Amino acid sequence: MASNPSLVMRILSASVAVSNRASNIIRNVLTKGDLGIVEKGKNDLQTEADRSAQRCIVASLHKQFPNVAIFGEEQLDPQETIPKDFIELNFDEEVLKHTCPEYLKDTKDEDVVIWVDPLDGTAEFTQGFLDHVTVLIGISVKGNAVAGVVHQPWFNFEKPGLPLGRCIWGVIGLGAFGFERETPPPNKVIVTTSRSHSDRMVTEAVEACNPDEVVRVGGAGHKVLLLIEGKVHAYVFASKGCKKWDTCAPEAILHAVGGTLTDFHGIRMNYSADVQRKNTGGVLATVADHGKFLGCIPEHIRDAMDK
Ligand code: AMP
Ligand code: MG
Ligand code: MG
Ligand code: MG
Ligand code: MG
Repeated sequence: MASNPSLVMRILSASVAVSNRASNIIRNVLTKGDLGIVEKGKNDLQTEADRSAQRCIVASLHKQFPNVAIFGEEQLDPQETIPKDFIELNFDEEVLKHTCPEYLKDTKDEDVVIWVDPLDGTAEFTQGFLDHVTVLIGISVKGNAVAGVVHQPWFNFEKPGLPLGRCIWGVIGLGAFGFERETPPPNKVIVTTSRSHSDRMVTEAVEACNPDEVVRVGGAGHKVLLLIEGKVHAYVFASKGCKKWDTCAPEAILHAVGGTLTDFHGIRMNYSADVQRKNTGGVLATVADHGKFLGCIPEHIRDAMDK
């Protein structure tokens, strides 16, 4: 173990452990079969898996880090009793073997905001596209995404015999772990975007990148996994529908491996406690050539995305 681990590494280590617990909770909800679907808004669902996973993550991290701000996607009753077996107080030892990057060593409780998407890709979850689902725990320091966990509960679900699920974590300045880095094919352009929250502008922005292939899948977390594993070149989402909890962990992990996630003006997201939850400038994420993709976006689309 790194001696006297920093606050950021302790939060990250706890987040990896708690994501394993949340992932079990999510799989159990599906096994039991009653998803308890609630419609929060237009094209915006919540299930018992979203609710239970958030209870687990927020209550566990709050117990460990009572003075750190934690925001979860789901609006739940803060007074409700959390089942004992939802509380995970362990630390992942693997994370603690790594040394905290110098720029994060003096981080204080009040500098940190944790953004939790207990289940990213809910629409796809309810439709059986299980590998689109991820659990996202993003750690921001002074408004910047710096570290995160993207846990995929059903990784390998169509490959019986292989271990089910995986946890990818990373820190900017340290790197990202839990997956195999690949670079995308050099002679074509593959773009990923939403499959369940698309509209004319979303499609027009994708087409403006002149893709040879378009991969429409669920989840901001899942799409960033496609990027870091070299399956796609860019994630293009000209919409105001993604929120801070969708992008914080993916942005940190993508930047930890040298990629880039910004809005449609090329600006990194702000994750301070007082920001509006929506990423109203849209989302553009790439493993390389970020400027080239930004340059493909027509002016009227850029203008439609907030600055
Ligand atoms: P998608 O690529 O459609 O899976 O979207 C990525 C994340 O942003 C998911 O958590 C979605 O629920 C969320 N999201 C995107 N667009 C919308 C929208 N119009 N309304 C609600 N949530 C959205
Ligand atoms: Mg989400
Ligand atoms: Mg969610
Ligand atoms: Mg949602
Ligand atoms: Mg999307």
